[in-house]
Amino acid sequence: MDLDELYKEVVLDHCRRPRNFGEMPDADVHVHGDNPSCGDEITLHVKFGANRDLGEVMFTGNGCSLCMASASMMTQKIKNKPRANAESLWTSLHDMLTAREEPKELDDKLGDLQVLIGVRKFPMRVKCATLPWQALKQALEEKNSA
Ligand code: ZN
Repeated sequence: MDLDELYKEVVLDHCRRPRNFGEMPDADVHVHGDNPSCGDEITLHVKFGANRDLGEVMFTGNGCSLCMASASMMTQKIKNKPRANAESLWTSLHDMLTAREEPKELDDKLGDLQVLIGVRKFPMRVKCATLPWQALKQALEEKNSA
């Protein structure tokens, strides 16, 4: 299966059945993010564990299929993981989508997120894919200063 087909399959699957989608009233932080150029709007709900590592992570909101799929994959990858893992995942994803040269090798730890590489050809859509991650970054920073 080529990456385009895989992209469609993975994105559609997460879009139809978003993982970790729902409210979390007792979350430690709620971060709202929006992307007016597309109309994406999501809120990330995060509980932190010991050492400010990530605990439960949920999201709510409305966005295009790319935004919803990226958020869904992100929550699967980061929940109950050390914050350093989440930060390095974000760096890898950001590099994959925005580095001037298309990366020759993809970072294994990205897993399913690798299918998003096709998005780098469409700068407007990069924002859709990174919106949930911007919210995550903000959530980690908020907790940092608390
Ligand atoms: Zn979008």
